[in-house]
Amino acid sequence: MAKQPNPYEIAVNQLEKVAKLIDLDNGALELLKIPQRIMIVQVPVKMDDGSVQVFLGYRSQHCNALGPWKGGIRYHPNVTLDEVKALSMWMTWKCAVVSIPLGGGKGGITCNPKEMSLTEIEKLTRRYAFMIAPIIGPECDIPAPDVYTNPQTMAWIMDTYSMLKGYAVPGVVTGKPIIIGGSRGRNEATGRGVTISTVEALNYLKMPIKGATVSVQGFGNVGAIGAQLMQEQGMKIVAVSDSKGGIHDPNGLDIGKVRQYKAETGSVIDFDGSERISNKEILELDVDVLAPCALENAITKDNADNIRAKITSEGANGPTTPQADEILYNNGVFVCPDILANAGGVTVSYFEWVQGLQNYFWSEEQVNEQLKNIMRGAFSKVVTEAKRHKVDNRTAAYALAVHRVAEAMKLRGLFP
Ligand code: NAD
Repeated sequence: MAKQPNPYEIAVNQLEKVAKLIDLDNGALELLKIPQRIMIVQVPVKMDDGSVQVFLGYRSQHCNALGPWKGGIRYHPNVTLDEVKALSMWMTWKCAVVSIPLGGGKGGITCNPKEMSLTEIEKLTRRYAFMIAPIIGPECDIPAPDVYTNPQTMAWIMDTYSMLKGYAVPGVVTGKPIIIGGSRGRNEATGRGVTISTVEALNYLKMPIKGATVSVQGFGNVGAIGAQLMQEQGMKIVAVSDSKGGIHDPNGLDIGKVRQYKAETGSVIDFDGSERISNKEILELDVDVLAPCALENAITKDNADNIRAKITSEGANGPTTPQADEILYNNGVFVCPDILANAGGVTVSYFEWVQGLQNYFWSEEQVNEQLKNIMRGAFSKVVTEAKRHKVDNRTAAYALAVHRVAEAMKLRGLFP
C-alpha cells in the first residue's frame, strides 16, 4: 500500500503557505507550528478474558490564544501522535474561522473499538480520562466526540473527571447526552453545518438546491446526519459509503431507510435496490456535490483529477492533500474546506459550553438558528477573502483564521 501522507506535515505546510500570503511574523509562525503542550499516556485495560492490554493515548493542545483548548477524541487503529497534532492545529483554525472564543486541541487512543466490548471501551475511556485529567477542565481544555466516540463516551469522561473532583463537572466535555447537560442539536450539528455550507456553495455558484446530486463518503455522525439533512433540503443523495464499502442508486437513496438498515446490519452495503460501489468509486462519481465525511487523505494527487463533483463539502478533517487541492483548484472545483464546512460541531459545542456555564438551556430552534447565522457569516467572509487574494477557499479560510490567532497572540504578548 502507498505510504499515507503525514497529516502533521500537511498541516505545517498549509500554515507556511498562508504565513507568506498574510506576511505573518516569523516568531508567530514558529510558535504556531508546534502544539503548546502534548501529553502521551499509557492506558492499560483488563480485558474481558482476564488479559491486560496496554494502549497509547494522546492529548495535544495546539494554541489557546483565543480561549480554552477544544477538540474531539478519536478511537481508531490508525491514531498517531502526528495525526493528533495535526487535528489539534486544524481545531485552532476552525474555531478562529467561525469566530468563537476557543483554541485548538485534540485527543485520541490507538485502538480498535470495533473489536472491544462495551465494558472494555468504558474501562479504556475512564483510564484515559483519569490520565489526562490534570490537563483538561471546563476552563482549560474541553474534549468532545470524534471518530468512534459518542455521547456515551463523553458521559464516562464527565463522570470520571467529576469523581476526581468530588462534585459534578458537566462543563469538562461537550457532546454529552442532553440529560446530563448536553445541548439540543449538538449531535446533528456537524452534519447540519455541512448542509448549511453546501447550500451556501450551491447558491454562490447559482446552482439549484432541489435535485442537486450528492455522494457522501463515511456514514457516521457527520456523513449520515449530513446526508439526511441535505435530503431534507431537496438534494438527491445518490451514493453513500462506510468502512465496509458503498452503495449507489442514481434515482436517489432514501437516507432514513439507509440509516435504519445500517443500525440493524452494521453497514450500508447491500441496501435494497442499490448497487455496490467501492470507496474509491464513490469519490469519482459525476455528481454536483461530493461530501467526504470519513477520514484524512481521501482526495490525493492520485485521484484529484478524477473528481467530477462541482463542489466538495469537507465533513471530514483533512480529506484533501495540498497537492490535490492545487489540482482541484485548477480544475475549477469549488472546495468548501473542512475548517469551514465541518465547523458546525465545534460551534454547537461552544453553545453547549456556554449553556452549561450559565445553567440555562436553549431550545433546538435557538441552537439551529444561531448555528445558521454563524456558518453563513463565516462562509461569506471566506469567499470574500478568496476573491480578494485570488486564492482557493482553503487558503482564504486559513488566512482569516491565522490572522485572527496571530492578532490575539500579539495582544497577549509573550510570557514572561
Ligand atoms: P463516526 O465514527 O461517527 O463515523 C465515521 C464513519 O466513517 C463511519 O461510517 C465509518 O464506517 C466510516 N469510515 C471509516 N473508515 C472509512 C473508510 N476508509 N472509507 C469510508 N468510510 C470510512 O465519526 P464522525 O464523528 O462522523 O467523524 C467523521 C469525520 O468528521 C472525521 O474526520 C472527524 O474528525 C470529522 N468531524 C467530526 C465532528 C463531530 O462532531 N463528530 C466534527 C468535525 C469533524
